[in-house]
Amino acid sequence: MTSVFRDQLYIGGQWVPPESAERIEVENPYTEEVFGHVPAGTAEDVNLAVSAARQAFEGWAATPAGERGAALGRLHQALAARAGEIAETVGRELGTPLKIAKAVQAGLPLTVLSGYAEMAARPEPDETIGNSLVVHEPAGVVGAITPWNYPLHQVVAKVAGALAAGCTVVLKPSELTPLVACLLADAAHESGLPAGVLNLVTGTGQAVGASIAGHPDVDLVSFTGSTATGRAISHAAADRIAKVSLELGGKSANVILADADVVRAVKVGVGNAFLNSGQTCTAWTRMLVHRDLYDEAVELAAKTAAGYTLGDPFDPATRLGPLVSAAQQNRVRGFISRATARLVAGGLDAPLPATGHFVAPTVFADVDPDSELAQEEIFGPVLSIIPFDSDDEAVAIANNSKYGLAGAVWGSDERALAVARRLRTGAVDVNGGSFNPFAPFGGYKQSGIGRELGAYGLAEFQQVKAIQR
Ligand code: NAD
Repeated sequence: MTSVFRDQLYIGGQWVPPESAERIEVENPYTEEVFGHVPAGTAEDVNLAVSAARQAFEGWAATPAGERGAALGRLHQALAARAGEIAETVGRELGTPLKIAKAVQAGLPLTVLSGYAEMAARPEPDETIGNSLVVHEPAGVVGAITPWNYPLHQVVAKVAGALAAGCTVVLKPSELTPLVACLLADAAHESGLPAGVLNLVTGTGQAVGASIAGHPDVDLVSFTGSTATGRAISHAAADRIAKVSLELGGKSANVILADADVVRAVKVGVGNAFLNSGQTCTAWTRMLVHRDLYDEAVELAAKTAAGYTLGDPFDPATRLGPLVSAAQQNRVRGFISRATARLVAGGLDAPLPATGHFVAPTVFADVDPDSELAQEEIFGPVLSIIPFDSDDEAVAIANNSKYGLAGAVWGSDERALAVARRLRTGAVDVNGGSFNPFAPFGGYKQSGIGRELGAYGLAEFQQVKAIQR
């Protein structure tokens, strides 16, 4: 496969040379070879991008809804034409197996973008409250900072919502997976999106991310990534009281009640925990099982984990790719080496492919709900199984977390729904309910502030004005 060298930034409707000659190399985590690079942007590049976004803001905000929706429709078309390239690029820079990359890494952002194109074309009507006309207006210039695990989806969830609301955007993708974001900028250019409406500055978090978060002319910072970085971004934005929305980490519970279909709950649960090699913020990494079903669940989870095929993301037989980087692999291995629970699958001695940053699908049973394994976000293919004796105890264990992003409950419908209502998380799937890309997505507690996707996601990028008459 060919190398991908990107030497320019997308600012003000053109690909322009960056201020610095420094580059960031992009590694293929399976072959461990560098196959591309992007510019290491600087604070000066961010200044230019913010000023382009500011200049474009008034015109884009005033663009009639039908035209804005049509522009997003053209962007969708241009991006859809690149679906194959998107899946391959994510397969190479992140290591997602191609089949999953096609469905999730390319398919999901296209669905989200087409939804926002429709919403942009048909905005909610103004509201009347007594003598007030309540109008929704675009929040302004948005700084979007994204991580590497669903590199195009996380970008599109922000960019499409912001553009649909009438905002303009300065985007900084993760330095580990910047190439797929360049494809979005290519599509924006080809589709004729007005100059300055979307700007792309690649670079590190310390240089480009921090400059965006602290920039006086950025009205809203929309961030997805780790809780630690989210905290730093909140501090930077607080100095100028800028609006912040944060999609952060998770440690979600998959609660299998006494009357659940345990076979299905465990199979779907293991698949969820190991999706994208466990590098998924909503992953159900704690499996809570009623004691009556516990031994069966542990055995089945171990067997399911052991059945995964690890290997080349481009081999159709591969179900689990490598982790994104050597650093991430070492981090995950550290959690496994410190764990004191009962190892029932995987672990550090399990066989691995000859190259690539792999960790074997690993399952621990009898995990202490207060231990590091059950409390910290590992972000790798590591599942912790915990027994419980009553629905109340299951709820208490599930909610014993600083996070509150997602979760699942399995059991008879009414009982499972009652437990779902008691979980302190932004989303819960009952008996295998599927992911809805138009439902609000976001977290309680340290999993974040605000919501993405659908109408709630669009509202994050708006201000509300009351006009009295
Ligand atoms: P990260 O926080 O290290 O990086 C995310 C982004 O922030 C990157 O673009 C990075 O360059 C940038 N960044 C780093 N330091 C910065 C700073 N000081 N100022 C501004 N920007 C900075 O996270 P990651 O390692 O890329 O992603 C993994 C984490 O993201 C996990 O914790 C995961 O749970 C979380 N995540 C959350 C969601 C969600 O929607 N809740 C989705 C995906 C990932």
